[in-house]
Amino acid sequence: MSETIENLFQEERSFPPPEKLARSANAQPEIYESAAADPHAFWVEEAQKLSWKSPWKQVLDDSEAPIYRWFVGGKLNVTESCLDRHVETTPDRIAFHWEGEPGDSKSLTYAQLLAEVCRTSNALKELGVTKGDTVAIYMGMVPEIIVAMLACARIGAAHSVVFGGFSAESLRERIDDASCTAVITQDGSWRRGHVVELKKNVDDSLVGQQTVKHVLVLKRCENEVDWHQGRDHWWHDVVPQQSDQCDAEEMDAEDLLYILYTSGSTGKPKGIVHTCGGYMTGVSATFRYVFDIKDDDLYWCTADCGWVTGHSYIVYGPLANGATSLIYEGTPDHPEQDRWWKLIEKYSVTILYTAPTAIRTFMKWGEQLPVACDLSSLRLLGSVGEPINPEAWMWYHEYIGGKRCPIVDTWWQTETGCIMITPLPGVTTTRPGSACTPFPGIDAMVIDNEGNEVERGHGGLLVISSPWPSMLRGIYRDPERYKEVYWSQFDGLYFPGDGCKIDDDGYLWLLGRVDDVMLVSGHNISTTEVENALVDHEGVAEAAVVGRSDERTGQAIAAFVVLRADVVGHDDLIVELRKHVAKKIGPIAKPSSIVFTPDLPKTRSGKIMRRLLKDISEQRKLGDVTTLANADIVEAIRSGSSSGQDADE
Ligand code: ATP
Ligand code: MG
Repeated sequence: MSETIENLFQEERSFPPPEKLARSANAQPEIYESAAADPHAFWVEEAQKLSWKSPWKQVLDDSEAPIYRWFVGGKLNVTESCLDRHVETTPDRIAFHWEGEPGDSKSLTYAQLLAEVCRTSNALKELGVTKGDTVAIYMGMVPEIIVAMLACARIGAAHSVVFGGFSAESLRERIDDASCTAVITQDGSWRRGHVVELKKNVDDSLVGQQTVKHVLVLKRCENEVDWHQGRDHWWHDVVPQQSDQCDAEEMDAEDLLYILYTSGSTGKPKGIVHTCGGYMTGVSATFRYVFDIKDDDLYWCTADCGWVTGHSYIVYGPLANGATSLIYEGTPDHPEQDRWWKLIEKYSVTILYTAPTAIRTFMKWGEQLPVACDLSSLRLLGSVGEPINPEAWMWYHEYIGGKRCPIVDTWWQTETGCIMITPLPGVTTTRPGSACTPFPGIDAMVIDNEGNEVERGHGGLLVISSPWPSMLRGIYRDPERYKEVYWSQFDGLYFPGDGCKIDDDGYLWLLGRVDDVMLVSGHNISTTEVENALVDHEGVAEAAVVGRSDERTGQAIAAFVVLRADVVGHDDLIVELRKHVAKKIGPIAKPSSIVFTPDLPKTRSGKIMRRLLKDISEQRKLGDVTTLANADIVEAIRSGSSSGQDADE
């Protein structure tokens, strides 16, 4: 019988934590043992680090599994943990340094942030927004997006942040799904020197829409906007005159904090539900230990607040810990491709958390750009969003981390709320391409199709075997889909949908989505491992592979390759790349076709959309492309791919 997923790629390099960091790290080695001995006690201790209005009566209620409730009966308002308590002790501490794309900048202390949140809360109340409402937030990366999220949380309204790159239709779909009563937006948002007309998209999305009563509009780009009297309100007309005091609404630990739609790599997005107490416990604890945050750190997460990474690790986790963060409004290539490195130099960033897609783009642009900037302030690097190819990891380590910064490759999902599998920077010896081990208090396993745990050295399906505080509480208004998607495969186990292998030392290696696994001549091969082997070649910056149906082998591997700057694609390179893959992971995994392309189709959060590449490879009509960020590349690949060589020797 064939393996659930083959283990092909071997990575021998390893990196112990720097001694100095290890000595003073927030997480010390004992954390694993003590959390394993009593996971509930571990989470309780973390929950107690937050501000509660009244204590919980029960840690976990699993009587209606898979609907789990944490810290049952506890009352809190998450903004008090994020703001009020820091304002009492360190009001002048900077919460955010913000840099706009055009180069303007601003810093907000904790006291200023709380005051602005209160004013905005009061403005929302004046517009009739109350506890139990849901507010859509459709903005760019300006400080006010964070203010808007926290203002909702302060008055007990749920927020549903919709990434500012989404179209009017996608926004409408999400507004309708959550029956939002208000929308917070901007006139426009800067992107690569151009104005994205957010307000216009909101107008378009609200045509004939019934539930939205008010639209609050921040002036940012000064572009012309249409105005709907009575419905639309300028931020500067209704917020500044409000009182800077606003009592924080008492919320149950299990009250709705937010709805967030998944990034949609696999199709129709799911409205993931997160609640107050457990979510805050998970994000606050993981932020403290995984990023080892200290008072003098300057932390920069490059995500957008439209994604879960922005929710958990720009807003709630860092603020719960009183951290000082940088946020940046624009794209990495504006005005030049070195903007990020200039920002790190300017603000002396110490911790950088970004995504493999960005790292691979920088590899493509070349290391001369970061090398020309002073990145010596950095002490810790993070990665999230996709498996990071070992070669991209090494590039990150060498050119961004100056070979001195540990890299935390953090595996998690919108659904998990917080980081689940990750190194701890002062404890774990890392391996390029491995997310290493479950976070303390988290139980993960790799199982085969029958639900049996695989032996070390083998691949299979990742499952989480016990509930955790920040887990999703469901898919909004769709309890059946929640059970079906995550809990129906294996009894009592949460199934995230990702493949994984476990090595001889118990390290976990994420292998991409199970749906993407290719079946080639009876072997289940993960896309990740073939992509890793391709990116291992010095000429390659990025690669995506898919299984194209094939009469002889079931599926044949079709590869799409983005080369590094200065490397030219030609037929000899195709032969060389196929040999390279064969040598690295075995002849079975050799791509049957390789197409060079300047870019890959990506979701708006930057993840490779393999299902579209599969459609192209099998010359089908394309599936849902609404979440595609770079639609023009699909045509380019489609025309290039017909000439892509099919070499079978
Ligand atoms: P959808 O569920 O709508 O298809 P999505 O899964 O892309 O969208 P997210 O919740 O943003 O939406 O992404 C979570 C997924 O990203 C994980 O299930 C995993 O496939 C991938 N992922 C995230 N971090 C890592 C990581 N460090 N290593 C490997 N894969 C990762
Ligand atoms: Mg997903």
